[in-house]
Amino acid sequence: MKKRLAIFFMSLIMVVTMSGCGNGKKAVSEMDSAMFQAGTYEGVGKGKNGDIVAVVEVSEDSILSINFKEHSETPGISDPAFEKLPETIIKNKTVAVDAISGATVTSNGILEAVKAALLLAGATEKDITKVVEDNTEYESVELTTDVVIIGSGGAGLSAAIEAANAGADVIVLEKLGTIGGNTARAGGGINGAGTKYQEAVGIIDNPDAFYNSVMSKGVTFKDTTLLRQLVDGSESAVEFLHELGADVSVIIPAHGDSVARTHRPKEGKPGATFAKVMQAKVESQGTKIITNTAAKKLIVENNAVVGVEATSETDRKNYKINAKSVVIATGGFSANNEMVTKYDERLAGLGTTNSPGNVGDGIEMAIEVGAVLENMHKINVMSPLSSAVSDVIAVSQDGVRFAEEYDWLDMDNFVKINEGKAERFVWLILDDTARNEQAGMQSYFHSEVPTANSIEELAKMIDIEGDVLTKTVNTWNKAVESKNDAEFGRKTGMNNKIEKAPFYAIKLVPNVHHTAGGIRIDGDTHVLNGENQPIKNLFAAGEVTGGVHDGTSSLTDIIVHGRIAGKNAALNTK
Ligand code: ADP
Repeated sequence: MKKRLAIFFMSLIMVVTMSGCGNGKKAVSEMDSAMFQAGTYEGVGKGKNGDIVAVVEVSEDSILSINFKEHSETPGISDPAFEKLPETIIKNKTVAVDAISGATVTSNGILEAVKAALLLAGATEKDITKVVEDNTEYESVELTTDVVIIGSGGAGLSAAIEAANAGADVIVLEKLGTIGGNTARAGGGINGAGTKYQEAVGIIDNPDAFYNSVMSKGVTFKDTTLLRQLVDGSESAVEFLHELGADVSVIIPAHGDSVARTHRPKEGKPGATFAKVMQAKVESQGTKIITNTAAKKLIVENNAVVGVEATSETDRKNYKINAKSVVIATGGFSANNEMVTKYDERLAGLGTTNSPGNVGDGIEMAIEVGAVLENMHKINVMSPLSSAVSDVIAVSQDGVRFAEEYDWLDMDNFVKINEGKAERFVWLILDDTARNEQAGMQSYFHSEVPTANSIEELAKMIDIEGDVLTKTVNTWNKAVESKNDAEFGRKTGMNNKIEKAPFYAIKLVPNVHHTAGGIRIDGDTHVLNGENQPIKNLFAAGEVTGGVHDGTSSLTDIIVHGRIAGKNAALNTK
């Protein structure tokens, strides 16, 4: 996953071009009014995946260039930070610059690296951290198009593809500096029933089995048409991604399903792979994706939506976009803990796995024009076990298992084990075979993990009774042997026993992962009002909608309903 950039520079460490400066350093006070000592300097900052090395060239009063010699930041997600930040730092001669939303850690690493280089160049901390207020007036921009899509996640991108295919002029608005939203972060894969990839490996499946599996999870829906569309369209959704160039050939069971129907690429993260191929298609169709621009309000005239108002703080622009159809594809609200807590107060204070843009903007804009919501309480926390990882159990601080690990998406179990405890976490217990034989396991080892040569010893390290944890592991090993988890009915991820030392304990805190509730839509993805009638010209798809599925088929939903929304939004313009 990591891309290593190696740009070689003629001058490596520090080339000082100023004459007469012995050791290459000179205090600013000695430089009269000069801000820097002219030359090229290197600084290091901490990015998301490791060090970022900035190479900064300065004259006495200006920053001339900023390049990056080395970094291992995630391609795509981090690109806008490398592109935009240097420009602003050079313009304002300060590192007191806002991070690029969606790439905050990388941005901070870049700022740290450039700052270190500028300090080496003799600048004072005060000079290069001064806040330069941007007083540029906002420019008013008016655009007219057929279809505006709000949000560039999977739902927005697939809607854009179909709307353009149907001949519409499309504009996509994206609040963050990066494209792909939460979709680009998704693990797991896309659920599809009855695909040729399943058939190739002998998996027998069909949409009815998929439908029944979702219905068995205890979620209710006002209109099951939407779930029916999701399962019936799932095979074609997988094929859609494949035709755009994504590999979907690896199939795994997920979320406690006994049938393997989650399709993912052999290499690379599923969501990022899918978002990338869709983005490439959207761009090849000539559709403009306006980034760093947040939709603020739907424009309504005579009871019909006729456009969107949006603002770009970075570009200092206020947009009025006139459109014949508007598609809301702004994703869920996991990153808005206040809103999350409004619907499930037990989740107060939890973090999220989601992109920072997913704060429920679309839901609020839709409510303002009369939309109604469904299933808002259905909020999932991240299972401690990714479906890509097996041979691991999750235990509470009492040393016992408390749920079918792969299905642990409901807060109920988690809250039960944490009753009265301030800190909310579980321990993943695994052995050395599980650690070494699975690529997916490595990401769990990013920080120091309690390690011991016996379960007894491991228990001591994490403050659990040794005999209790030993009993839990022994019971589990018997379940693996007989392929029968009598306690919780787990059927997957039980290939090897937990028996080979050393043993590991990984502490996991749950995160809010997916919000299955949202705007009510009909089968044509029209946004519905309180009388169950479509709000004219307004469509919605993806995680921003509610009452479609239980929260475990998100990638399928965004493609199936995103495509329907795009087609219908285009049709509505005719
Ligand atoms: P889905 O899975 O439904 O496609 P994602 O979370 O993948 O949802 O994508 C939603 C996208 O919408 C994110 O990129 C997010 O930054 C963007 N977004 C959220 N609110 C706004 C807004 N007000 N204006 C423009 N884009 C928005």
